[in-house]
Amino acid sequence: MIPSRNDLTYFRGRVALYAILKALNIGPGDEIITQAFTCSAVPEGIIASGAIPVYADLPSTGFNMDINDLERKITEKTRAIIAQHTYGIPADMHGIADIAPRHDLPIIEDCCHTLNSKFAEKIVGSFGVASFYSYEWGKPIVVGLGGGAIVNKRELLTKMQEHYVHYQFPPSFNLLRIQLQYLAHRILYRPFLFWPTQSLYRWLGSLGAAEKNYTPIKENSISNDFSLKMSKHLQKRLIRKSTCFESFTRHNRWVTNQYRTGIDSSVVTCPAPSKDYDIIYARYPLLTKCKKEIISQACKANVELAEWYSGPIHPVPKKDWHLMHYEEGSCPNTEARCSEVVTLPTHKAVTKRDINRTIRFLNQFT
Ligand SMILES: *Cc1c(COP(=O)(O)O)cnc(C)c1O
Repeated sequence: MIPSRNDLTYFRGRVALYAILKALNIGPGDEIITQAFTCSAVPEGIIASGAIPVYADLPSTGFNMDINDLERKITEKTRAIIAQHTYGIPADMHGIADIAPRHDLPIIEDCCHTLNSKFAEKIVGSFGVASFYSYEWGKPIVVGLGGGAIVNKRELLTKMQEHYVHYQFPPSFNLLRIQLQYLAHRILYRPFLFWPTQSLYRWLGSLGAAEKNYTPIKENSISNDFSLKMSKHLQKRLIRKSTCFESFTRHNRWVTNQYRTGIDSSVVTCPAPSKDYDIIYARYPLLTKCKKEIISQACKANVELAEWYSGPIHPVPKKDWHLMHYEEGSCPNTEARCSEVVTLPTHKAVTKRDINRTIRFLNQFT
C-alpha cells in the first residue's frame, strides 16, 4: 500500500519488520517462517527480535513461498509467517491465508519490492496483520535508506505506536552518509552506468563510505540500527515521492510490457502472465540455463542485468549461511532458482533506448 503521513517509518525495512515482531511479543524461543530466496534484511530483523528464521523453499516454478513446504515447516514454536512478494509478484495469498488461521498464526507481508501489485484484485499489504517496506536503492520508492510499516489491526497498531516513541533519530554521521548515497543514486542509477557503478559501490562499501546491505552479524549483540527511526528530512521526501507514485507505476507497466512483447530469445524465459495477478515489478525476472555466461556478456555489452538473488539469503556468502540459520541443501528449489535467475531493471530511469539495447542483446542468442 502507498505510505501516508501517519505511517510508522524506521531506519530500514528490517527495523520495521523487527518493530512488528516486537509488537507481536515475539522473542527468544520463537520461530518465524519466511521464504528462502530472500534478502539478508529479513533474517536479520527476525534474529534481532530474538527469534529464529525458518525457511520455506520455493515451489518447482516461481519466486515465492511453496505453501506445502510452509505447512511442513510449522512447529509448536512457530509464531508468525512472512509472505514475501518477490520482485513485486504477489505471494499465493489464498494458500497462505488458508494455512495461517488453522495454526493461529499472523501473516506479515514483505512488500519491499512492491507497494501496489494486486492479488485477486486486492492490493498487497492488505492481507496480513501488518506489512513492511524498504525505501533504499533498488526499491520502488527511494529516499536513501529507510523502512516503514503499515498495520491493519488496531491493537497491534496501538502497541507499535507505544513502542515508536522509544525509537531515536539516526546520528548525523549516518544522515550525511545516507544523503551522499541518495545523491549518488540519483546521478548513477541509469542502466548504462550499472556495471561501472557496481564496482564503484563495492569499493566504497569496503572503505566503509557506503551503507552496506550485509555485514556478518555478531552473536549476542543487536546492531544499534534496530533502535532507530527515519529522520524527519527523509520522512518528508517519502511523502513527496508517494504523491507522484502513479507516474512510476505507469512507467513500470510500460517498461515491462516492452520486455514481455520484445524478448524472444532461446536462452531466457520470461515469467508467464496470470489473470489473478496485477504485477508491478521491482525487477523483471528471467530464467536461463547459462546465467554466468549471459551475465559476463551483459557486462561486456554494458547491459544492466542483475544476478540477484544469487543465493538463498542474498547477499550472504555460503560460509555465513549458518549465522542466518540456513542449512545448505535445505531448500533445493531455491538453490536451483538462484543459479538460473537474472533480472532486468524497471525503474524510472529506464529509457526506450535502454529497453531496445537490452532486447537486442537478449535476442541475439537465438
Ligand atoms: C530490501 C529488502 C528488505 C529490507 O531491506 P532494508 O535494507 O532493511 O531496508 C526486506 N525484504 C526484501 C525482500 C528486500 O528486498
